[in-house]
Amino acid sequence: MSHSDLLMKTEMAMPRTLKQACEVQSNGLHDKNDIPGMPLPVLKAAGIDLMDHWKEGLTAPGQVSNLLALRDPSLHRLSADSIGALCTLSAIADSTAVRKSAPVIAQAAESTATPQIRNVATAGGNLFQRPRCWYYRAHQFDCLKKGGHMCFAVEGENRYHAVFGNGPCHIVHPSNLANALSVCQAEVLVVSSAQGTEEPRRVPMHQLFCLPEDRLKSEHTLGPDEIAVGISYRAAPHSAHYEVREKQSFDWPLVMASVALDMRDDGRTIAAARVCAGGVAPIPWRMPQVERALAGINVKDTQRVRQACDLAIRGAQPMSNNAYKLRILPVAVSRAVRLAVG
Ligand SMILES: Cc1cc2nc3c(=O)[nH]c(=O)nc-3n(C[C@H](O)[C@H](O)[C@H](O)COP(=O)(O)OP(=O)(O)OC[C@H]3O[C@@H](n4cnc5c(N)ncnc54)[C@H](O)[C@@H]3O)c2cc1C
Ligand code: SF4
Repeated sequence: MSHSDLLMKTEMAMPRTLKQACEVQSNGLHDKNDIPGMPLPVLKAAGIDLMDHWKEGLTAPGQVSNLLALRDPSLHRLSADSIGALCTLSAIADSTAVRKSAPVIAQAAESTATPQIRNVATAGGNLFQRPRCWYYRAHQFDCLKKGGHMCFAVEGENRYHAVFGNGPCHIVHPSNLANALSVCQAEVLVVSSAQGTEEPRRVPMHQLFCLPEDRLKSEHTLGPDEIAVGISYRAAPHSAHYEVREKQSFDWPLVMASVALDMRDDGRTIAAARVCAGGVAPIPWRMPQVERALAGINVKDTQRVRQACDLAIRGAQPMSNNAYKLRILPVAVSRAVRLAVG
């Protein structure tokens, strides 16, 4: 059966309530006895990444569940400590509550993709978008992530690949929002049929994503029957997001840094820092060595700040074409620190 024939056969569920959406996720659109082995529906939010997969022939799900059909207002709610899963990136970027409470989140949303994409792309979809590795995105390459036997990036073109957490697959995590949420001690709220919809399961950011050595075919730890309904985060008024890009429009950053600082009462000394780098590892990459070094530093002491940020590359293992990221990363981190202290 050709790819377009498969597309024609796709069935779309339009759940109106979260309970219905959970039922669709746990049972599919058919009784499982009807069609043995039928995989569960694939979740669709705005569909930007999902449709990319479809168009490239990377996926042809028999069943799709369209989350945009849900009529639950909590999924669109934005506040100083929470973001509904269906909030668009534009809404997050424009929200005064988010901007005041955690500028890093608003900045990360604002710098994603293009205005057209931000107007429809959702928070949930941004977190769970699949990697950008060009071998993964091209159906001709049957790489490890797609069940094949080799990673083409190792001997191939790897300038946009990982310098930390390497192997056996060398993707970098693509989500801006995930990086920023990591420094705001965020938790993703998840429902399923088993869990029910009243008390969502709370998954801290550091448990949401996994390294390829732990799970190769998926980048996150949610089950196929689980749906993210929102994000809760802590206020981080001294926070910022900084990206280095090849060009300023519609591209993923080469490297990004999200920083949140707790300041002492004097307003100049860093009490505690949370630092996360993106574009460098298969998951949002927290940098405890930089966080420890920044604690106690007076932000006016630019030399000590720079020395602390230079530790960002400790433990990096660049591939054949991406050592340039080691020059950019400390700069991105120190600029994010500077922005965070205003
Ligand atoms: C030209 C271009 C440039 C881009 N630049 C950037 C960039 O700089 N930074 C960046 O971060 N992104 C970038 N993107 C990616 C874009 O932001 C994402 O594709 C988009 O955010 C996905 O959101 P969506 O709502 O369309 O998700 P969908 O495509 O609908 O879904 C994406 C994935 O998430 C899953 N999913 C969706 N919602 C949920 C949920 N509630 N619970 C569980 N799983 C769910 C789906 O099953 C699917 O696997 C770019 C995209 C393009 C086309
Ligand atoms: S980096 Fe991962 S997704 Fe890319 S070719 Fe290697 S195994 Fe495949």
